[in-house]
This record gives sequence, structure tokens and C-alpha cells, in this order.
Amino acid sequence: MSDQVLALRDHCPRIVAALAAAGRALVCTDFDGTLVPICEDPDDCVLDGSMRTTLAALHRPPRLQVAVVSGRRLVDVRRRVGIEGITYAGNHGLEIEGDGWAFREPNADACRRLVQTAAERLQPLIDAIEGARIEHKELTLTVHYRRVRTKDLPALRAAVGQLSSRVLGPGRLRLHGGKQVIELRPDVGWGKGQAVEWIGRRLECRGEHRVFIGDDETDEEAFAACGDGITIRIGDRGTPTAARYLAATGELSAFFMMLRRALDVRDTVRPAEAGHAGRRGDGEACRGI
Ligand SMILES: [Mg+2]
Repeated sequence: MSDQVLALRDHCPRIVAALAAAGRALVCTDFDGTLVPICEDPDDCVLDGSMRTTLAALHRPPRLQVAVVSGRRLVDVRRRVGIEGITYAGNHGLEIEGDGWAFREPNADACRRLVQTAAERLQPLIDAIEGARIEHKELTLTVHYRRVRTKDLPALRAAVGQLSSRVLGPGRLRLHGGKQVIELRPDVGWGKGQAVEWIGRRLECRGEHRVFIGDDETDEEAFAACGDGITIRIGDRGTPTAARYLAATGELSAFFMMLRRALDVRDTVRPAEAGHAGRRGDGEACRGI
């Protein structure tokens, strides 16, 4: 946990002002539980239209760029967000696509067969547990148990735990926890933290002008890796986190709108007025949170 986790609402004027004034800034955000509420069925998660509009308006390269970094497959999260030109990272950063470029972590590709083997072995065991579901994401595998009765959870964990050392282990697949999920990911030393760092370098954005926002265990890796970046955990007061700032669900859209207004102010005033007008705009923007 950070030495002191701060409430985002108390510090947004300074954060918004810094990002609006930066020559190049980067806003990376998780999808499930961050841009959209967690759904009983992950297939039901849809990005709210006003959030889509705000994110699209924030993305104005090169001065501020938006990236969505998700545990979903890249094609899945891109379809659900549906904004052209921004960067998408899927499978916890193992696959990344930007405007005219693409990256896939090379060692993860070699684990695709292991992921397939794990899916084939787990499928009959998971099918026997009411409410459990496997999501095969090519480079990773997710076992969803949000709808599983408490009494059936030991059987589910036993099913995953029985996977042989030919599938699980150093250099093969590793187990990770999350919100009502167990994930199997390639043990290649690459996750959201490395992905955010890679995207930041690719888009030539300095560390202190990078933002990463998330709500789950996988995002904690990225918070820890973000160094002097701006890290925001979506959660309730008291949520343990390595992030610098904590925001309640629902505060994120207000933060994005404040940033949008601050960028608009800086884009519309004449350069000679930018210092004064920028300060005025930041103050106005932060009333809403
Ligand atoms: Mg999440």
C-alpha cells in the first residue's frame, strides 16, 4: 500500500492542471469495474454513451492520448469501447494496438498451446459446476465464478488446482486472482505494468504525465510499476492499494469531464492568455467532484 492513499476529489485541480499543461500526456484506463460497472455476465458490459463521448474528446494526440488496458481480448475490448484512433491493450497487456501499429508479447505467443490444453482439461470439470464459465482468450484463460454457489467454490478451486505441472509452473502458466475470477496467464514477466510503461515510451510521454486507472488485483501490478505516474484505484474507502489516489465508482466520469474542460480552455484561449485562462478553467472544472 502507498504510504498515504489520497482521495482523488481533493487533488483533482492540481492533477487536471498538470495534465492539461503537459506537452504530452497519457491516460490509461482499465475497462471492467473502471469504465463500466462489473456485470453478472461479462458479455453484458456496455460502455455508456456519455463516457464514450468524453473519452473520445479527451483523445487529442499528441498532447493527450487515451489507452484502454484490459484483461479482455483486444478485439473484445476494442469492440466494446468503439473509439477510433486510441490505443487498446488486451489480455492484461500481452497484445497492444495503436493508431497504425501493433505489438504482441513474443513469449506469450509460445504459450498459446498451453492455454488451449488448460481449456480442454478444465472444460468438463467446470461444466459440472453450476454457474461457472470458462473464457478462452487465446493468450490467457479466465474461469468466472460470480454465479457459483459458495458451497461449490472448493470444487471449482480443486478443478483448477488439479492442472498438471506440464501446464502450470515457472515458464508455463501462472494462476492469478481477481474479482470473482481465476486467471491463467503465461509466466513471461509481462502484465499491465509493463504494458503501460511500453505504451508510455511508444507514445513518448514522460512518466509523471502518465495516468493509470484500475479497480482490481491485476491493476495493482501497474500501479506499482508506474513510478512517479498518476495512479488511481477505483474502490471504496479503505481499499488496500499501491495507487496514489482512490476514487469512488462514479467519480471517474466527473474527473474525465474536468480534464476535457481544462483541455478545451487551453485549446480555445490565445497563447498569451493561456496561463491565466488555464488556471481559471481548472478551478471551474474541479467543482463537480
Ligand atoms: Mg477491472
